[in-house]
Amino acid sequence: MAASDLSAASKTNIPEYEIADVNSKPFHIGSFRNEWLNRLDPNSYSYANVDEEAFEDNFVKEMGISADTMTELKSTCSIDSLRCHPVDQPPDTEVVPPDPTLKTLIQRKERQDYRSSLKISKNRHDLYADELDRVTVTDQVKAEAADTIVPEGEVILSINVYYPATFDKFNYVRPHMTLLMLGCHTLAELRDAICCVSDLQVFGEFSSNPDMVPDFISKDHYKSAFFFFEGVFYNDMRFPECQDISMTTIEWAKACNAPPYSKAKMEDTRLVDLKIKVGYPYLYCHQGDCEHLVIITDIRLTHKNDCLNKTLYPVLTHKDRLMTQKCAVCHLYIGRWFTTNDNFAPSDPCLFCNKCFRMLHYDTKGNKLGDFQAYPYVDPGAFN
Ligand SMILES: [Zn+2]
Ligand SMILES: [Zn+2]
Repeated sequence: MAASDLSAASKTNIPEYEIADVNSKPFHIGSFRNEWLNRLDPNSYSYANVDEEAFEDNFVKEMGISADTMTELKSTCSIDSLRCHPVDQPPDTEVVPPDPTLKTLIQRKERQDYRSSLKISKNRHDLYADELDRVTVTDQVKAEAADTIVPEGEVILSINVYYPATFDKFNYVRPHMTLLMLGCHTLAELRDAICCVSDLQVFGEFSSNPDMVPDFISKDHYKSAFFFFEGVFYNDMRFPECQDISMTTIEWAKACNAPPYSKAKMEDTRLVDLKIKVGYPYLYCHQGDCEHLVIITDIRLTHKNDCLNKTLYPVLTHKDRLMTQKCAVCHLYIGRWFTTNDNFAPSDPCLFCNKCFRMLHYDTKGNKLGDFQAYPYVDPGAFN
């Protein structure tokens, strides 16, 4: 369905709640943006800096106050009045003042005391905890060239992608990743930004020739995928080997007299062309049956404080970290192989790192010892 048909079909493009505080009714993203642009003064979404003097003159006029009051207001509300220390004497932010009364400081002190009680001062997660923050902060580097700057009045979508339904533990609980994307992005670009461990799997039993594990992964083999939004399947048809994997469901729905589903191409559909409900779970399906929930949680106009460099999108603002499963022998390295019917293994199936797997199952000449099956394994924490 073309974008114009979509916008014509929807009666209203102003989001209203369908279920309070959960999700909106369906609306067309591009038309919603246009509604805003028609109503707003262009200055309110312009990236240009506001002329301070003009702003003050306006403020004085609108509030009906005197120039003296304005001066007083300015000094009272100035950021400088919030400083506890002179600019050239910044305090050590690691030191919590003695007997703090602020809840945040009390908690911080507790955490510092707890950490200093640990043998290892910093774990891997702490080391990288601020990594994503840093990425998004440096991403705010202003785009210099005109062709890389996000145009004024563009929309930014916050998109949560959840773990595949096979990870029972985290199912529907917390998003695997949160992305910021622009209205001009296509669904194919969204697909490429989603990293999922099932794209990396290599299928097969390789106990007799562990060096023969091919380099190509599932993603190279099985390129078909679709998104499902509001009754429309958006298929990835970018490559000749892509198949329309939505067909079975569409035919089935027809046979069952269910409401008809339609289809479109992922690579031809921009996010602004979509008709969606904000807060409502939709579907991303790849590798045949790896199904992820996708929820668009927010749609808004860009602001000058956003990352305005188009080339840095999609911006990853959150990524969940998973515990990695370690080798059953050394308990140190991440599992790379799992074996079944393995007499050397303490469990069935059993996970090994590459080194332990080879030392335990092959002689020095590389001959297989004993009877077992071995499969390459990709840890879900591979993206940490
Ligand atoms: Zn997946
Ligand atoms: Zn090991």
